[in-house]
Parts: sequence; structure tokens; C-alpha cells
Amino acid sequence: MQPVDLRKYIEQELQDWAQLGVDGHVHAKNPWVSYHKIVTASAAKTVGALPSEVIVMNSLTVNLHLLMVSFYRPTKQRFKIIMEAGAFSSDMYAIESQVRFHGLDPDKTIIELQPREKEFTIRHEDILKTIEENKKDLALVMIGGVNYYTGQAFDIKGITTAAHKAGALAGFDLAHAAGNIHLDLHDWKADFAVWSTYKYLNSGPGAVGGAFIHEKHIRRKDLPRFAGWWGHQEKERFLMKKGFRPTPSAEGWQVSNAPVLSMAAHKASLDIFDEAGIKQIIHKSQKLTGYMEYLIGIECKVPSAEERKNNPELYNIKIITPKEIDQRGCQLSILVRKNSKELFENLKREGFIVDWRSPNVIRVAPVPLYNTFEEVYKFSNLLAKTCCHE
Ligand SMILES: *Cc1c(COP(=O)(O)O)cnc(C)c1O
Repeated sequence: MQPVDLRKYIEQELQDWAQLGVDGHVHAKNPWVSYHKIVTASAAKTVGALPSEVIVMNSLTVNLHLLMVSFYRPTKQRFKIIMEAGAFSSDMYAIESQVRFHGLDPDKTIIELQPREKEFTIRHEDILKTIEENKKDLALVMIGGVNYYTGQAFDIKGITTAAHKAGALAGFDLAHAAGNIHLDLHDWKADFAVWSTYKYLNSGPGAVGGAFIHEKHIRRKDLPRFAGWWGHQEKERFLMKKGFRPTPSAEGWQVSNAPVLSMAAHKASLDIFDEAGIKQIIHKSQKLTGYMEYLIGIECKVPSAEERKNNPELYNIKIITPKEIDQRGCQLSILVRKNSKELFENLKREGFIVDWRSPNVIRVAPVPLYNTFEEVYKFSNLLAKTCCHE
């Protein structure tokens, strides 16, 4: 959704631009030269990081590439990457192309975590086992915070600890996690993370992305990076001198100056998160999602594990998102065995914005910032009416 005040935030920059031209760089109400700084503290709060560990820049996939340049350093001995099967396509392409960039064969380098047969989500114990089995040649575990298709939230802390124990690093794609689930990247010791801000963070089409680099890495001089002037030490940035010297914080990974209009949109959204508080948002999220799960459960008679064992095709609907609240955010992925596309069209006609994923999954996200319990009630009723009673 578009934050109500977003126009005001962007209007401010348009006005300063119209009146000041290039001088807005330093004389705008929010000087453009340092605009990235005004979103850092709030962005850091949403992912549980120190401000020095976070930078809002570029877009998710670009940030993933930039951080893999620094943190995927394959050697003869350690070169493998563990990722989730069925990851978002952009992650697959980014990781595959990074592997090729180092002259390696993706088939021999990338290990995909799979759900067990007849299961939809990946068991944590299987993730740990795969890390353990590959500990001799593992370089990186790169995994989503919340899987976009199933809505499964991974145990970032547990995965990071296991990766480190195996001598590898751990990076996370938080596209569906930032603004959705509780994150404590600093304390969990994740090495790096990237996210987009146009999903739960409501910052608009193509909005600027985020990146996290753990404090223990931000001053390292041995890390290679693809540099640009905006990552150079601030006081020397405009001296235009030879020799890159990075800012000793996440800002040091910046390449270019900030897209201010997109940043302004992001600021409008982050101010709402600050006002509401991520803790309260998550508190409501768990109730709202639990309520939806409960209603779908009784109205559609979602079968118990026992019933399903006896007759797996008995019921038309199955929620494939984990039941455990620490293994999901506000998304429920509903597998609809029959007429899923018709159901989707029907929901859309009635004004529900849900998402249909081939071949038969409908993703629903009762978003705590703007969805109500009443909407969840109406949605669940309609769902039951259209597809549970034939
Ligand atoms: C949306 C999404 C992306 C897309 O990233 P952009 O580079 O911002 O287009 C990548 N990964 C995941 C998991 C996503 O959900």
C-alpha cells in the first residue's frame, strides 16, 4: 500500500529541486548528498541491526551481487554454496552467475535444500545436516529469510551458527522477511543480508533496496568489493583522488549516489514502522494470521495429519505454510487442489488482492499495518463458500 504521507515526502524533494537545482545537493531541507543517512536508523531497526551495519541502496539483486563479491570467495578447498530449492528466480540467477564468474560449474558447486517427499517446506534438521555433510568444502550458505512461495521462515540464527561452525559464511535474502518477521541480524551474527523495500516495507514500485553487513566485517581491509565514489571515505569523496578508501561502515559498499525520490518514498514508509513499532506490528501479525488459519481450518475442514494420511486427496485445500508462528510471517500459502485459478479470479472480483502461483497455490498475506480482522473474516468466508462446499 502507498503510505498516506508519501506524496508530501516526495513533494518536498521536488520542491527543493525546482527551487534550488543542483544546490539541493547541500541546501535541500534534507540535503541529497547525505540522504541515505536519514533512513539508516529506521531501516536498521526493522532488521535488528546497528545503524553502521545497514545501508539503503540499489535494489535487492544488485546488492546480492555486490555482497557476494565480498563474501563469496571460493578457494580450491572451499567453494560450495547451499541454497534453498525453489528460491526466488533472481537468487538462482545471481548465485549461478556468481559461481560461473569464478570459473566454477554451478552443478558441482550449488547444493539445493529440498523438502522431504510429500512435504512442502524444508526441515531445519535437514538444513543442519546438509551443512554438516558439506563442511569440508562449504563456502557460503545463502538462503531466504522467508520463502516467497511457501511462506516458510527459516531459523536465521540456527543456520548462521551452523554455517560458522562449518567454517563457512551465512547470507540471507530478506525480501519477504523485512517488515514481516522478527529479525535480529546483529545478535544472530549473520554475515550479510539484502532486501527489497517494495514488499512488506511499502516503499513503492522499483523502490531502493537494503543491505546489511555484520559489524565484524565492516572495517575489514582484505575484503574485495566493486567500488564507487559513494563508498569512498566521506571527507575525501570529492577530492576525486586515486586509490579507493572505503567508509568503515556498510556505507563503504555504496557505489553511486542515492536515488533521492525513491529514498523519500522509503522514508515515508519507515516513519510508519517507527511510529507503530515493529514489535507491535508482529504482535498483531501473529494474531491476524492465526485467526485466518483458524477460520480456514474450521470452514474448509482442513484435515488433521491423521486424516490426511488415510486420504490425502480428501480435501480441496491445504495450507502449506508452517503452523509454528516462529516459522512464518503473515503469509499463508494455500494449496487448492481443484479450480485454484477460478478461486483466485473470484477473490479478485470481490476485492481481495491475493497472488496466484502456478500450478495451484494462492498466497494470502493479511498485513498487520493495514488489514483488519473483519477483512480476514470476510476473506475466509468467501474462500470457504467458493471452494470448500461443492
Ligand atoms: C522480490 C524478490 C527479489 C527481487 O529483487 P529485485 O532485485 O528487487 O527485483 C529477489 N529475491 C526475493 C526472495 C524476492 O522476493
